[in-house]
Amino acid sequence: MDPRDQLIRYFIETYNKGLNTLMGGNASIRIGDSVLITPSGVPKSELTINDIVELSINGNVIEGNRKPSSEWRMHLSIYRVSDYKAVIHAHAPSIITLYLAGLSLDLSVVSEAKSYIRKISDVEFIKPGTQELADEVSMRIKDGADLIVLKNHGVVAVGYSLPEALNKIEVAEDTAKMLLTLRLINKY
Ligand code: 13P
Ligand code: ZN
Repeated sequence: MDPRDQLIRYFIETYNKGLNTLMGGNASIRIGDSVLITPSGVPKSELTINDIVELSINGNVIEGNRKPSSEWRMHLSIYRVSDYKAVIHAHAPSIITLYLAGLSLDLSVVSEAKSYIRKISDVEFIKPGTQELADEVSMRIKDGADLIVLKNHGVVAVGYSLPEALNKIEVAEDTAKMLLTLRLINKY
C-alpha cells in the first residue's frame, strides 16, 4: 500500500475509534531519510494523499502544499533519537481523564497492556507544538518509553509500524477505561 494512503488510513482510524476529534492529533511515518506527516488543521473527513507533507529529518519541506502538523518538532525529535518508524499522537479521552483524576496507567491490571506496551512515561502540561514539548518527549523516548502521556492534552505512541503504534494507544485507552470504571465502583 502507498505509504501516504496508509498514513491517512491509520490516522482516520484514530477518529473512528474515538481516540481523536475531527481536527485533533497527528501521525507520521519515517521512510529512509524523510518523514511523511499529516497536515495541520485539516478535518480528517477531507484528508487526501495530496495533503500529506514530506519533511526532511531536519524539518525542511521536501514535498506538499499544506502546512505540516504543528507537532512536527515532536515527531522529528522522536525519529532523531530512535529507530522507530511510526508516531501517532491522539487526544485519547479516558487516558486524559485518568491522569486528571490523579491516577496513572497501571499496565499490570491487564495482560494485553503488558505485552504490547514496553514502558509508559508521563509529562506535565507543556504548550502543544513547542520545541520544549518535543525535547521532553524525545528525552522519554531515549529513556525507553514507547507510550507517553501528555497531561491535559493527550498521548503519543511510537512503533515500527502504524498498526503497532495505534494498537498501543488503543490498549492504553482501554486500560484507562477499566481503571476509571474500577475506581467508580471503589474497587481500585
Ligand atoms: P495539528 O492539526 O497541527 O497536527 O494539531 C493537532 C494537535 O493535536 C496539536 O497537539
Ligand atoms: Zn494534540
